[in-house]
Amino acid sequence: MFISVLDLFKIGIGPSSSHTMGPMVAAARFLDGLRASPFSPHGVRAVLHGSLAFTGVGHATDRAVILGLAGFRPDDYDAEAAEAALAQIRADGRVAPEGLPSLAFAPDRDLAFDYDAPLPGHANGLVLAATDAQGDVLVQETYYSVGGGFVLTEDELAQGRDTDDGPPVPYPFKSAAEMLEMCAETGQSVAELKRANELSRRPAADLDAGLGRIWAVMSDCIDRGLAADGILPGGLQVRRRAGSIHNALLAERGLNRAAPHAINDWMSVYAMAVNEENAAGGQVVTAPTNGAAGVVPATIRYWLDHVVGASTARVPEFLLTAAAIGGLVKHNASISGAECGCQAEVGSASAMAAAGLCAVMGGTPAQVENAAEIALEHHLGMTCDPVKGLVQVPCIERNGLGAIKAVSAASLSLRGDGTHFVPLDAAIETMRQTGEDMSHKYKETALGGLAVNVPNC
Ligand code: SF4
Repeated sequence: MFISVLDLFKIGIGPSSSHTMGPMVAAARFLDGLRASPFSPHGVRAVLHGSLAFTGVGHATDRAVILGLAGFRPDDYDAEAAEAALAQIRADGRVAPEGLPSLAFAPDRDLAFDYDAPLPGHANGLVLAATDAQGDVLVQETYYSVGGGFVLTEDELAQGRDTDDGPPVPYPFKSAAEMLEMCAETGQSVAELKRANELSRRPAADLDAGLGRIWAVMSDCIDRGLAADGILPGGLQVRRRAGSIHNALLAERGLNRAAPHAINDWMSVYAMAVNEENAAGGQVVTAPTNGAAGVVPATIRYWLDHVVGASTARVPEFLLTAAAIGGLVKHNASISGAECGCQAEVGSASAMAAAGLCAVMGGTPAQVENAAEIALEHHLGMTCDPVKGLVQVPCIERNGLGAIKAVSAASLSLRGDGTHFVPLDAAIETMRQTGEDMSHKYKETALGGLAVNVPNC
């Protein structure tokens, strides 16, 4: 099992990694397959299943599939060009991806939402097909968007979720227990093990440049969110709050007016800035998903701006440690809200952030594992019930609370010696089982919880 830090932290677009980025990636993969096939298709069709159907409009899945079939990708997404392309496609009923002939694709006719038949492999399934002039299928592929922008075909899913055919890594830990054993045997930190694994796949210069870019995009996203104002799209009339709260916090600085717990507002405001940007369809980094994209950046920014001795030079260590934990959660449970509820998204993000913060504040591997465990344990059972299927309520505030729990978990852990009652592996397995038992109403379908109890929605 190897999940790269640069795959777990991916630059993309909001509002959802599983419902926006994943379907766009699936469409890109489908087009690559068409380019390599002997067929000359006349048109394309798409059917969204399960959670992609239920919350697809709120999560902009329809736009993502349309743009994906037109050749757009999340990593170099150009918002202005996308708007122009969407208008053109709706007017012409055709997409014109590079390297293929113009294809018939009228979204009203050729993009369907199937609410009745979820696909067997995962809650987020979509089927893409290329057809001839009679409408008969020439090529068809089923894709699953398994969370965090990761996409698997039906065959890949059947072979095992984290299929990895790259060269072996020096520290192939599949559990937190194995990770701790390897740290003890080698005397290395979690980040050092993870870095050594990464270097078996890419040169150090590429890794360092990638990590630098990840933090730059995260940090820019916070700054853009703090500077923005207005109403978020989607119809809920949710107002952006990060900017005004941030201004109030700045005004209180040095006046002895703020309560000690105002530090929590700083953590919240950094996370909310990211998630407001995400809700507006802006550029974010999956951490490990878009819905949970605020927790890790907010925790890093809190550390850099509010903790004496913090330094940007150690942000890569934070990210590598967080990615080691995120990889364990993804491999042994899930980072998908559609699969295990919000415990898998904000819960995983909080565990990752707690581990990263603990590491850069001098924690031992045992304390790092303890920090991740505390954060995850206290998100267990958390459902995903986004109002109107939008990644806004409860998601935006929830990221702030996820960051606060991450900081508390790291702090508690650093006050101990790393010995603790519940192993991280047990918390991850509990999250998996709880997610399996959770009603589908609470797994990104907007059929239960806040999504049905908030008035006028
Ligand atoms: S409730 Fe949690 S899992 Fe669901 S969309 Fe919001 S952030 Fe993602």
